[in-house]
Amino acid sequence: MTILATNLGFPRIGSHRELKTATEAYWAGKSPADELLKTAASLRARHWVVQQKAGIDHIPSNDFSLYDQVLDTIAMLGAVPQRFGHTGGDVSLDLYFAMARGRQDAPAMEMTKWFDTNYHYIVPELTADTPFALSTAKAVYEFKEAQYLGITTRPVLIGPVTFLTLAKMRDGSDRWALLPKIIPIYRQVLKALGEAGAEWVQMDEPILVSDLDAATKDAFSDAYGELTGGPQILLATYFGAVGDNLQTLAALPVAGVHVDLVRAPGQLTQVAKALPKERILSLGVINGRNIWKAGLTDGERLIEEARKLHGDKLFVGPSCSLQHAPVDLDTETRLDPELRGWLAFATQKLGEISALANAANGRRDNDYFRENAQAVGSRVTSKRIHDPAVQQRLAAVTPDMAERRTPFKDRIALQQSLLKLPLLPTTSIGSLPQTKEIRELRARFKKGGLDQAAYEKALEDKTAQAMRWQDEIGIDVPVHGEYERNDMVEYFGEQLKGFVFTERAWVQSYGSRCVKPPIIFGDVSRPEAMTVRWWRMAQKYTGRPVKGMLTGPVTILQWSFVRDDQSRSETCRQIALAIRDEVVDLEKAGVKIIQIDEAALREGLPIRKPEWKAYLDWAVECFRLAASGVAPATQIHTHMCYSEFNDIIAAVAAMDADVISIETSRSAMELLDAFASFEYPNDIGPGVYDIHSPRVPTQGEMEHLLDKALEVLSPQQLWVNPDCGLKTRGWKEVEPALVAMVAAAKAVRARLEKAEARPELV
Ligand code: GLN
Ligand code: ZN
Repeated sequence: MTILATNLGFPRIGSHRELKTATEAYWAGKSPADELLKTAASLRARHWVVQQKAGIDHIPSNDFSLYDQVLDTIAMLGAVPQRFGHTGGDVSLDLYFAMARGRQDAPAMEMTKWFDTNYHYIVPELTADTPFALSTAKAVYEFKEAQYLGITTRPVLIGPVTFLTLAKMRDGSDRWALLPKIIPIYRQVLKALGEAGAEWVQMDEPILVSDLDAATKDAFSDAYGELTGGPQILLATYFGAVGDNLQTLAALPVAGVHVDLVRAPGQLTQVAKALPKERILSLGVINGRNIWKAGLTDGERLIEEARKLHGDKLFVGPSCSLQHAPVDLDTETRLDPELRGWLAFATQKLGEISALANAANGRRDNDYFRENAQAVGSRVTSKRIHDPAVQQRLAAVTPDMAERRTPFKDRIALQQSLLKLPLLPTTSIGSLPQTKEIRELRARFKKGGLDQAAYEKALEDKTAQAMRWQDEIGIDVPVHGEYERNDMVEYFGEQLKGFVFTERAWVQSYGSRCVKPPIIFGDVSRPEAMTVRWWRMAQKYTGRPVKGMLTGPVTILQWSFVRDDQSRSETCRQIALAIRDEVVDLEKAGVKIIQIDEAALREGLPIRKPEWKAYLDWAVECFRLAASGVAPATQIHTHMCYSEFNDIIAAVAAMDADVISIETSRSAMELLDAFASFEYPNDIGPGVYDIHSPRVPTQGEMEHLLDKALEVLSPQQLWVNPDCGLKTRGWKEVEPALVAMVAAAKAVRARLEKAEARPELV
């Protein structure tokens, strides 16, 4: 039997982000729906043909989406939340986008991260009486569309169990009670696909690589027992090992199973053993989540091993959908040849898959394999990657370097005696509004229309203005505003060694939003100070202590494409040392308060709970390594922009930042429970101003939030700040909001001081 080359999904945004342009033009009312649909169809056609030309036998369809594949599933099932007023029938284009983006009369649905990727999906909102009905023919339509081009595709659906597991049950009812309601719709879709000529359908059930309870495992057998009889089902797992879900998986009556052998090569033996011999075993051997050329001989070895264990009922494919990789390396015109030789984007990965399948079928392209081995081999020894100085320094790191030797209690007393801050000190998270004017300045500077001196002078003027304004309104710890930064990772990546930036290595983050993560290709070090100059400049304009602002090592790691030739923790430690150098330089320059943002610490958590500890151990250590080079009198802040802390609170405390600011205003301080029951020892600034909304909070609301915070925190512990940076907001909102925030702090402060003077009045 021939071993087939397969793909699980292709990026839909287009190599030039055509989908973004078309969607946003439609949203802005600048072009009609037809235009958007035409662009979408041409992208699908282009991508199918690219895959066909690359020699992929099983080309996916319905992997395309105008916004998100989970939202597509919501539309397929007709699971439209009530507030959108859908009364049945097909989900229209505008209703579809309304669910994603909100409408005047109905707020958007929630969005959250797709497993441990940076892709966000729309969270299904269900209740016991959500009315389900087949409400779009998208899967069948796109299958036929490809058929019309002469390509028989393998339609992709998000499986029912993953769908329900990811849903939010609005009424707290049992999600599995809904399974019998959605299965008939899946059956309908499968039947229609079968009638249209689909031989295979790929059901994505990534939830199988997470920790599952008995009810979820039962749901698998219930669901798939009902889905037989139509096209053959390839049940796709990805993002890790199936582990203790293997028995559940192997017992399902499906025609084939896909497993991720990039993240979990070790599972091959067990999976092959458990899977009945007549089933297809689909091998995910090409990494769908990075930008590196694969070591093809490793892939060959895995396929050989699989053949020994399972025979030749095999598919070869990527570990997961290629949607998490950038589209095409050929669009990079400025990368130098050596570096470029190490890379493979989605389009190039197709070539790797097909080369492996061909080789397994006795048609090994020896030239291709030789070139691959040379490219991969050259990375192992390249001087651009390996910097002995960095490695020596890392080897010399001692545990005490990750420790602020003085305990918090003594540190904070020392800091307070120097800083003399009032109770409930006010500050903000770092960035101030990045106005159109500032963005235009930067654009002109980058295009060469403005020289460096003029650009920096203009930024200094803006910064000076911001400093004077913060003084005027009475912010205790002002920030310089981060006007010189366009992105909190890119800004540092551009100044660190070991990073490279691309022109078009975009990946979809959510909807039309794409990100272009830097590539960490080599040992990381900091040639010179990155932020000291800006801090100094800002401090000139005020007598109050200006915070130094840095991005933490874990966040830089998390928001980059990371090298695959050493562990993530190793790379993170290198970044930590570079940031540590900056922290020490800031202190030398006279900075008293330094904030090291770890916005992405939580999203680095592994999918499986038992792996959390190992991650948190090194992540926390990296933060501490970055933060601990300073004297006890220097105050270290950190910031995290989310509100789920319950399960990582001990690790957050172990970071031992003197002050942490977090997001809380939306959840009305609920998260503080975590901090209260744990008795978080250090200082905290729970956000009192929701910066994700254009709404300006009133002084009264913020006072109320502070009062709530004081129920669980001591006044000595409490800081007053917004939820996150203000760069996406306009001054029209920020001005009144911060004025009100300072007033709220002052009011509560006055009450506290009065109570202290006359305790009987409390
Ligand atoms: N210091 C950054 C800012 O204020 C933090 C942003 C973030 O946490 N995402 O913009
Ligand atoms: Zn934030």
